[in-house]
Amino acid sequence: MSAVILSGKDMAAELLEQQSARVDTLRLNGIHPALAVIMVGEDPASAIYVRNKERACAKAGIASQVIRLPEHTTQEELHARIEELNEDPLVHGILIQLPLPKHLNETAALTWVRASKDVDGFHVINAGHLLQGHPTVLPCTPQGILYMLKKAHVPLEGAHAVVVGRSNIVGKPLALLLLGENCTVTLCHSRTRDLASVTRQADILVAAVGRPRLITADMVKPGAAVIDVGINRVDGKLCGDVDFDAVAERAAYITPVPGGVGPMTVAMLLENTLEAACRA
Ligand code: NAD
Repeated sequence: MSAVILSGKDMAAELLEQQSARVDTLRLNGIHPALAVIMVGEDPASAIYVRNKERACAKAGIASQVIRLPEHTTQEELHARIEELNEDPLVHGILIQLPLPKHLNETAALTWVRASKDVDGFHVINAGHLLQGHPTVLPCTPQGILYMLKKAHVPLEGAHAVVVGRSNIVGKPLALLLLGENCTVTLCHSRTRDLASVTRQADILVAAVGRPRLITADMVKPGAAVIDVGINRVDGKLCGDVDFDAVAERAAYITPVPGGVGPMTVAMLLENTLEAACRA
């Protein structure tokens, strides 16, 4: 294997120490950082993600509460619960665990969260600031990816970054963040023609699709930095969107799954919660 493995697990552990120290300082100033997570229904994957977030908060000394609402919760009931948290001065960050059950309008719910308490960066106001290149709260996964690239000193300015996947939570905001770092950005999706011919041009290649081993070694430029966002389960085992072993022979940097982007997403949630607590 030739690629350097970018361990999100290690980077997140290092960040956690700094975050714990920040919590101590905030507490000395009478501020007890607190996150509220709303989960509607019982999606098993969401339950695991929420548990990971609770554990990470506990390690950092951030108070967290999970509000579990039944599957049949109405939009009005959800908004009423969000409103209570908006008004609660002891809650600094609010996170709506996605996906919501099909009958609920996600955009409406995300926008009901007060923008200053939006620790996911999904509120339209915060997304608009990102679009315009203004400082704002950044979505956790893209922010974590940028952190990893910078930490590894991967050159960004002028690099060709190819992002595969155009979701509002990963692909689109990441494309904007990389543009802000003066990358030349190409955003690919399910209708992209000849995906391999595009990915082969990438100095930085990000896969955020949710298809096991979509990115094979022949789709990667030698020496590229390859970031694997995908979380898939094959035969009971977690894997990403990148054919890890073969691509690691060709890339200069690669993130593993698990232990890559996932822990950094949680680390950035803590970071955003601490920022929200400081602002409050
Ligand atoms: P999504 O599931 O909303 O959408 C998938 C995207 O992939 C779409 O934009 C679609 O156009 C594109 N796509 C589908 N098939 C394609 C193909 N054959 N070629 C090119 N593009 C194709 O996206 P999401 O919510 O960003 O999730 C993507 C993956 O990332 C999932 O596996 C998800 O579990 C994972 N994820 C991981 C983290 C983390 O912290 N590690 C965070 C968020 C999402």
